[in-house]
Amino acid sequence: MANKRDASCIFCKIIDGEIPSYTIYEDENIKAFLDISQATPGHTLIVPKTHVKDIFEYDPELASKTFAKIPLIAQAIKASNPNIIGMNIVNNNGSIAYQSVFHSHFHLIPRYSENDDFKMIFGDNTDSYSKEQLVAIQTKIKSELEA
Ligand code: 5GP
Ligand code: ZN
Repeated sequence: MANKRDASCIFCKIIDGEIPSYTIYEDENIKAFLDISQATPGHTLIVPKTHVKDIFEYDPELASKTFAKIPLIAQAIKASNPNIIGMNIVNNNGSIAYQSVFHSHFHLIPRYSENDDFKMIFGDNTDSYSKEQLVAIQTKIKSELEA
């Protein structure tokens, strides 16, 4: 099926070559290029070539085409620099989740040390939930998958 394009989307323009990018990989389904902000050296974005806003718009076919290439590109980034000792792979969905470009993308952020320029904070609310509350959450999500 033909790729969808949004004329006002910066990543669609990068995909079409209207805006230049430091591309490291592309095939008929995806493009991977350096994020302009370089949170850490080698910070790369992987985008599907069809314009989908966020993870909630993927179907299984687009997911398999896009996600299948993430390990390959992650491995190449890691192999490119012996100082890379880890990697965060981040996908923001919605402004509340820090998405600022509304063409779905995956950040591959190589990690060099505790003091490189990347941080993530996970709250720990383990003690705030009863077993019943966790079962209620589990049941609601499971029922959506079974619908
Ligand atoms: P988000 O906040 O939506 O998860 O990430 C969007 C990312 O796109 C940001 O990290 C930002 O640096 C990057 N970005 C925005 N505009 C451009 C651009 O024109 N070229 C490239 N290579 N990256 C961009
Ligand atoms: Zn787009």
